[in-house]
Amino acid sequence: NINMKLSSTINVLSDDKNVVQQVMPETIENQILNVFHHVFKLSDFRHNQWEALIAALHHHDCFILMPTGGGKSLCYQLPAIIDSGVTFVIAPLRSLIFDQKQRLNLLNIPCAALTGNISPEEANEIYRDLYKDIPAYKIVFITPEKISMSDQLNNVLRDLYNRQLLARFVIDECHCVSEWGHDFRRDYSQLGQLRLNYPEINLTLLTATATPRVQQDILQQLNINGNYKLFVQSFNRSNLIYECIPKENTDIALSQIANLIKINYQNQCGIIYCFSRAECDRTAQYLLAHNIHALSYHAGLNDALRQTIHMRWINNECQVICATVAFGMGIDKNNVRFVIHFSIPQSIEGYYQESGRAGRDGEIANCHLFFCYDDYIRMKRLILNDDESKSSKQTKQVRINNINCVYDYCLNNVTCRRTQLLEYFGEIFSSSECKGTMSTECDNCRQDFRTSSLDCTRISIEILKLLSDLNQTNSTLSYIIDILRGVNNKTIRDAGHHRLRAFNLCQQLTRLDVERLISRLITDGYVKQEFIEQQSSVTAYLRPGTNAIQLTSLSSQRSGSTTKIHIELTIRIEQVNNDHDEETQNPKQKLIEQINEQCFIELKKELKSI
Ligand code: ADP
Ligand code: MG
Ligand code: ZN
Repeated sequence: NINMKLSSTINVLSDDKNVVQQVMPETIENQILNVFHHVFKLSDFRHNQWEALIAALHHHDCFILMPTGGGKSLCYQLPAIIDSGVTFVIAPLRSLIFDQKQRLNLLNIPCAALTGNISPEEANEIYRDLYKDIPAYKIVFITPEKISMSDQLNNVLRDLYNRQLLARFVIDECHCVSEWGHDFRRDYSQLGQLRLNYPEINLTLLTATATPRVQQDILQQLNINGNYKLFVQSFNRSNLIYECIPKENTDIALSQIANLIKINYQNQCGIIYCFSRAECDRTAQYLLAHNIHALSYHAGLNDALRQTIHMRWINNECQVICATVAFGMGIDKNNVRFVIHFSIPQSIEGYYQESGRAGRDGEIANCHLFFCYDDYIRMKRLILNDDESKSSKQTKQVRINNINCVYDYCLNNVTCRRTQLLEYFGEIFSSSECKGTMSTECDNCRQDFRTSSLDCTRISIEILKLLSDLNQTNSTLSYIIDILRGVNNKTIRDAGHHRLRAFNLCQQLTRLDVERLISRLITDGYVKQEFIEQQSSVTAYLRPGTNAIQLTSLSSQRSGSTTKIHIELTIRIEQVNNDHDEETQNPKQKLIEQINEQCFIELKKELKSI
């Protein structure tokens, strides 16, 4: 109190700021501002940065959730400079560490990286410094496996701790701790030791993606119970334009992509996420052949080559990087103008993260997602066959569910993309914040169409009957859609399937509408896919799923059903030329009303019988 009075008196008495600073004890606020302006040379704080800095410097554990590019690093780098002692930062990838280190070097902030690839001499130099009375390094980056494996590291940590020179642990990309997250890493699960071994040392956790459930899991895994400061903000990336594009086949998609880049992204760089290393190579080759400077970047390349490519990418000497999802984490760069998914991502969270590498500078950027049923099948098949993987701790069921949700997202041609994505993070986003923004509307908001709600319960029951009628060698998705839409071709006639009850049921709906419905039935477990290997390809046959019985029993139910299953889908009503003519009702609209009416009558009947 005396101090405060004193300093305010000095403040009043003296006009000369320098005098005030000399006499006044430096407050945390002043220290932050000082370092922010003079070391980082920045002028305005981004959302939550100030609050997070204050919290960290008041010795709280901090859990900081900010979108990619939001400026999470500053929230530990700045305190690391002010605090006495050394801050240890755990990051999952060498390339990420390399990037951070370079940036800090540019700012003349003394830092080091203890990663697997440095020479023993380099490592020794770092350890020598850390054993000094006052180490020069303020920040030391380490990979998680170092913590569990290196005695040398653990010894120096213990020594610093005993000498009260251990400032803080930072866990970057902390979602890797949780098996519920989209990128679980086994090495990260050791990090719970930090709190137990060094109970007084504060933790700062950073991530761009963690649903509330994942957040809880992370805290639990890291043994953080009780007080911590949580910083969350809207996950909406307002400068990104989301779009999903149906993929006819690989060749067509490749030429679409080449055109897209030539027409829209001249001299602008982007990332193309591919399914496999081979697909990376092939895509890069194709683009190169079309005079687009593209390079393939994946774990199959040796370290030296990867570093070279990385540098060329960072220095804008390469326009397009074709990367596997597993390897894309290290290729952050501010001026990425487009992210293209050549194959569908593995989860919505993953997609948010990957597409989020576009537009980190805040300028408008595009996210194009190419999707097709075959890729979805391929991915699912891979998960089911995958017995030993880094994410085998994440159950197959979780991964299958993730991929189902991604496919539902792709097919959903009605709901605002932002609304769909953000729902995953527990955020309610009104499409009115996307629609009408002109330059950054998502594909669904950009287009003009009406919607109508379709009661699909009846159709779904018919689909399930159809699936048990058909012998399974016929029941591919495309065949089922043909029947439902009344496509009268030779195969169907020869098999006599044009006489099936379901024939014609969805005649006015588009293929995509029907696929959306079936995809929904798959996600909800009413329909399942059976994979049959034929030569080199795999075909998925649709069969009634584990929940099918709940639905089919509806129609034969006597009375007293307590849970009425109701499947509803919002369907897009495309503008027809004569739509302005009030008299002629849109045929699709008409069909939907008929079906809804029918369902309603049945519902009434059912209610009466109770
Ligand atoms: P992320 O949250 O994805 O880890 P970074 O911490 O890497 O993001 O920051 C992204 C970029 O934003 C970096 O280039 C960083 O220098 C810059 N940045 C961070 N905070 C600010 C700020 N307050 N003003 C201007 N630029 C900032
Ligand atoms: Mg970061
Ligand atoms: Zn939208």
